[in-house]
Amino acid sequence: MRFDVAVIGAGAVGNAIAGKLAAYKLDIAVIEKEEDTAFGNSGRNSGVVHAGFNNKPGSLMAQLCVMGCQGFPKVASDLGIEFRKTGKLVMALREEDIPPLVRLYEQGLANGVQGLAIVGPREIKEINGNFNGVRGLWSEMTGVFDPFAYTAALAEHAAENGVRFFFGKQVTEISGGAGDFRIKAGDPAIGIEARWVINSAGLYADEICRLVGIDDYVIHPCRGEYHILDQKLGRHLNVPVYPVPNDRMGGLGVHLTPQLAGNIMIGPSAEYIGDKDDFADEAAVMDQLIAEGRELIPFIEKRHIIKSFSGIRPKLTSAKQGGFADFVIEESEKAGRFIVLAGIESPGLTCAVPIAEKVKDIIAGKEALIRRDDYRPKRSGPRSIDGLNPEKGCNIICRCEKISERQILDAFDRIVAIGAIPTMKGIRNRTRAGMGRCQGGFCAIRIVELLEKKRGIDPLRFCWNGPESMMFAGRTRP
Ligand SMILES: Cc1cc2nc3c(=O)[nH]c(=O)nc-3n(C[C@H](O)[C@H](O)[C@H](O)COP(=O)(O)OP(=O)(O)OC[C@H]3O[C@@H](n4cnc5c(N)ncnc54)[C@H](O)[C@@H]3O)c2cc1C
Repeated sequence: MRFDVAVIGAGAVGNAIAGKLAAYKLDIAVIEKEEDTAFGNSGRNSGVVHAGFNNKPGSLMAQLCVMGCQGFPKVASDLGIEFRKTGKLVMALREEDIPPLVRLYEQGLANGVQGLAIVGPREIKEINGNFNGVRGLWSEMTGVFDPFAYTAALAEHAAENGVRFFFGKQVTEISGGAGDFRIKAGDPAIGIEARWVINSAGLYADEICRLVGIDDYVIHPCRGEYHILDQKLGRHLNVPVYPVPNDRMGGLGVHLTPQLAGNIMIGPSAEYIGDKDDFADEAAVMDQLIAEGRELIPFIEKRHIIKSFSGIRPKLTSAKQGGFADFVIEESEKAGRFIVLAGIESPGLTCAVPIAEKVKDIIAGKEALIRRDDYRPKRSGPRSIDGLNPEKGCNIICRCEKISERQILDAFDRIVAIGAIPTMKGIRNRTRAGMGRCQGGFCAIRIVELLEKKRGIDPLRFCWNGPESMMFAGRTRP
């Protein structure tokens, strides 16, 4: 199969690039090793649109974050997903936190961030009566969104504009060179030829580089663990609240984030680990998150946790170096027409669309791009926020999150429409079914029964997120 552009990785960044390039007369393929989109870091994060004050002035991260944040309301509206501009508070808990807080404010001004203000204890209490800070940095532009809905919507938008997705196909070989790459992916293997390759493989971007002889990048996995708290606590948190970050740590510190659906998220930790697939949650880290979360809101308890998960930062800085390296977005000098995206850690979701614009500019610098007349800038599928508002009189499948039969079937059809492989995790990511207090204890079976009846799936082949996670071992009755 021959394409103009092959994008490796169907995370938010790969999907945004594919959707952006689809505006031009280019045949585009996206190759993804997992069964569905958002199974990498794009589905394992805080879901915050960052304003851009955490990043070093003059860096690509700072520049693209400010652009991404300012453009996010329009991106969200074009994709039909919800964005809630909550604002955000970075809170100095002690006097010694004030100088670094002020430095953060000045850095934000240098980066051109709008809507920043230093606030005192009285204003902090006005923002949220539970907060006890001596000083705060208020950021008006910050907001929250659902990263699953966003990443899936980016994929759907690209697919609606003719991008072809190949899921469950791990890229293992790239031969040929500039203008004539030959990619082998998956088992059974498919062969894809492309003039351009865009390496948007997140944690594995360094390994994809090595397939074409580029050994300039080493990705150091740094895990961030989270807890999700019961929705009944949601009313206590109206805005994301962060501690003053420690520059050495390479994260923004353990923060509390209100999710769109009403849960509170605590995290992430920052632990350098040896294995890029080790998404474990450790007991000691869980205790540490609760303790740090309590500094921001005092009444959080372990019994409020309904789920824990982790993401893994693809860092270009080692544990010894700490801190952040800038994003790498460049055509490789060692392999022409091979574009490397490395170290796309936070704020990569905020920046996905400006990153895509930058990749488009790199290609446009090498060849004339001709616009397509039939390009649709807006996603036409249903608004994903419908998932939170079931229709009246419908059959509810997930009682905790009130997700209806129709919403489950819509999600299944949307998975199939982008060429992904239906899984329980994919259904859950798109609808929130199974994300409530019982974590699918009640609805998982009902979802499978519904899909067997209405979409003809074989329950014995239906998995959680891949071939090694089958939901059922066999039937107890014929
Ligand atoms: C703990 C944490 C918190 C974060 N919080 C925020 C936040 O609040 N706001 C924000 O803006 N950003 C945040 N981020 C950053 C954001 O999640 C990432 O920058 C973004 O998801 C990167 O998207 P991506 O598409 O580059 O990577 P990914 O989503 O990881 O996608 C890469 C894809 O490549 C695929 N792949 C890898 N190897 C191969 C192969 N050989 N063949 C085929 N496919 C392959 C993977 O399966 C994966 O799906 C956070 C990140 C972490 C870890």
